[in-house]
Amino acid sequence: MPTLIMTIAADLYALQEIDSAIEAVKASLMEVEEQLGETEELIAGRQAVEEERAALESVSKQQRDLEWQVDDLRSRVSGVEGKLYGGSVRNPKELAGIQGEANVLRGQLRQREDELLDLMVRVEERQAALRDAKESLAEVETRWRQEQEELVNQKGRLEGELAGLEERRSQQSGLVGARVLGLYDNLLERRQGRAVVKVERGMCGGCRISLPMTVLQKARSGLDVVQCVSCERILYVS
Ligand SMILES: [Zn+2]
Repeated sequence: MPTLIMTIAADLYALQEIDSAIEAVKASLMEVEEQLGETEELIAGRQAVEEERAALESVSKQQRDLEWQVDDLRSRVSGVEGKLYGGSVRNPKELAGIQGEANVLRGQLRQREDELLDLMVRVEERQAALRDAKESLAEVETRWRQEQEELVNQKGRLEGELAGLEERRSQQSGLVGARVLGLYDNLLERRQGRAVVKVERGMCGGCRISLPMTVLQKARSGLDVVQCVSCERILYVS
C-alpha cells in the first residue's frame, strides 16, 4: 500500500532534486554571463578598421606631398620654358644652359608623375580595403548584437527559473527538521552536491556498493534517515 504521507527520505530526495536543478541553472547562468560583453571577434574587427584607416591616411598624405612636388615642378618647368621661348635670352650658350635645366626639370616631373600614378593606385587599394574592413565589422556587429540580445533574454529566463526553484527549496526545506537538514547540507557540500541517492537493485546509487540487508530494510521503511555504510549519503528507496 503506498503511503500518502511523505517519508523523511522522500522529502529529502525531493529537496535533493530541487538543489540539483538549482546547481544546473546556476551553471547555465554562469555560462551565459561569461558570454555577455564584447567578443574577441568584435574587438579584432574594430582594430582591423582602425589599421586600414591609418594605412589609408598614410598613403593619402604621401599622395598630397607628391601632388605638391608635381605642382612645384610644373611651375618651374613653365618658368624655364618661358625664359627659353620668350625671346628675352639670345645668348646661345645661355640658351643651351636653360635648355639643359628644362630637360632636367622635365625628367624630374615625369618621374614624380609616374610615382603619383602608382600612389593613386595604392590609395584606391587602401580605400577598398577600408571599405571591406568596415563591411565585415558591420556584419560582426549585427551578429554580435543579436547574440547579446538572445543571451540577455536567456539570462532573464534562467534568473526567473532560479527564483522559482529557490522558492520551492525554502518550502521543501521547511518540511525537514533542523538536525536532518544540517546533515543534508553537510553531505551536499562533502559529496559534490549529491546528498541523497536512490537505492537501485540493493546498491547505493552514489558509490554503487551493495548494501547490507539490515540497512536496506531500514531504508525501505523511509521513516528515519538511513545512510550508506560507505559514502554516507542518505538512502532513498522509491
Ligand atoms: Zn554509497
